[in-house]
Amino acid sequence: MITEADLVASVPNQLFIGGQWVDGAAGETLDVRDPATGEVLRTIASARADDGLRALDAAASAADGWATTAPRVRAELLRAAFELVRERTDEFALLMTLEMGKPLAEARGEVAYGNEFLRWFSEEAVRVTGRYGLNPEGTGHMVVSQRPVGPSYLITPWNFPLAMATRKIAPALAAGCTVVVKPAELTPLTTLFLAKVLQEVGVPDGVVNVITTHHSREVSAPIIADPRLRKLSFTGSTEVGRTLIAQASERVLRVSMELGGNAPFVVFEDADLDAAVEGALAAKFRNIGQACTAANRFIVHESIAEEFASRVTERVAAMKVGRGTEDGVNIGPLIDDRAVATSAGLVADAVARGARVLTGGESLDGPGTFYAPTVVADVQPGSEILTNEIFGPVLAIATFTDEAHAVALANDTEYGLVSYVYTRDLARGHRMIDLMQTGMMGLNLGVVSNAAAPFGGVKLSGLGREGGLEGIHEYLSTKYTLIPTS
Ligand code: NAD
Repeated sequence: MITEADLVASVPNQLFIGGQWVDGAAGETLDVRDPATGEVLRTIASARADDGLRALDAAASAADGWATTAPRVRAELLRAAFELVRERTDEFALLMTLEMGKPLAEARGEVAYGNEFLRWFSEEAVRVTGRYGLNPEGTGHMVVSQRPVGPSYLITPWNFPLAMATRKIAPALAAGCTVVVKPAELTPLTTLFLAKVLQEVGVPDGVVNVITTHHSREVSAPIIADPRLRKLSFTGSTEVGRTLIAQASERVLRVSMELGGNAPFVVFEDADLDAAVEGALAAKFRNIGQACTAANRFIVHESIAEEFASRVTERVAAMKVGRGTEDGVNIGPLIDDRAVATSAGLVADAVARGARVLTGGESLDGPGTFYAPTVVADVQPGSEILTNEIFGPVLAIATFTDEAHAVALANDTEYGLVSYVYTRDLARGHRMIDLMQTGMMGLNLGVVSNAAAPFGGVKLSGLGREGGLEGIHEYLSTKYTLIPTS
């Protein structure tokens, strides 16, 4: 087993542009820290605007060659990358735990999930089809084909360092697009490690370029404004997503936006309570609560709320908090001080408005940025915790009286990424599929993510879908040709 120090030292610490590992032109660096200890893991290059444009130059130069590379060749490169990531599961998992904080078992889960996008889109690369048909007048043949959209800029968040990168890179490459990837400055090491894999398996120079920076806005704006860029795909907060959509609007750039969430988790009185408790723990505490899909509001029928609360509290109180590398840890550190302050502030506001803390409710002494896994019950309408994305290990319970009330509460949010519903009534379950205003839903299940499924939201949660049959179409544009029949 590789040591932490050897692993971190094996991660490239430069920008990856046109197949070369290079320092930023201004020679700037940024420190990547372990959130469990606060210590610097690795110091890496930090790009400025010129470096970003050089990366776009490389992606633009490689674009035609990659677009005309046979789909089978593209597919096999993705497949080779999948195999190599699988071989390096332990390394990828440990690296993510070190830079992001999630428990090692969860990091392994993310390697399996994130890597699946490489396999899935290696399979999709050879299945891009079109249509051929006669127009209704009988005067012409209509040919509809799909073309790669062109050089794409991919911006990813810190919370799932591998999966958020592969979920964009794999469909882009499968479709025939070259990319510039900008990982979050808090967790860039995994993307650099992935770029090394892509280089090793022989992805041609310039097809994938990676820029790391702590000047995200300064580096991104000129790339987005450049006419050679054809696509922007972003995963992150709604706030930043909005500003990027505004920038992209100048050039009517195609955008995909995977933004914030505020998932309701509805437990009806007829639910299987054992399953609901298990689902609740997974939906809330996976990734230390730092997932866009994290259940944010537990909306529980008043007749079972007490029992649900006491059963989840028993389990949450027993959770082990610590560095994600330690055995048996369920809850690692939050990403930074700001995240701890957010959880603490939302709990304080809920309590001030009448909620009860059943367990946790406090930040833990450092080093590292830890917040105790928490349950708050009797959350009152108007509490900030019901409208803000918590992004921490806090399970907040409110109650409802009847089905219409549950639906109204669940949909009372500007977000619409995912919802979770627990009921044993089949007809009610089907009604909920129609009534929940979300792009995804777990019906009697607390985790929905799958590479074969279209991931994405409605309302302020974004535009477009990643994964599934839909994912590759974010990187394709439709071309229609009419040919006279005679
Ligand atoms: P963030 O919006 O702060 O940052 C996301 C990325 O954007 C990072 O790479 C960051 O460096 C970059 N960025 C920030 N400002 C920028 C700017 N002005 N121009 C260009 N790039 C900029 O989000 P975060 O804190 O990294 O991630 C957490 C958020 O992401 C949460 O809201 C979460 O719900 C959301 N998220 C959504 C999904 C999804 O699929 N819907 C998945 C994971 C996370």
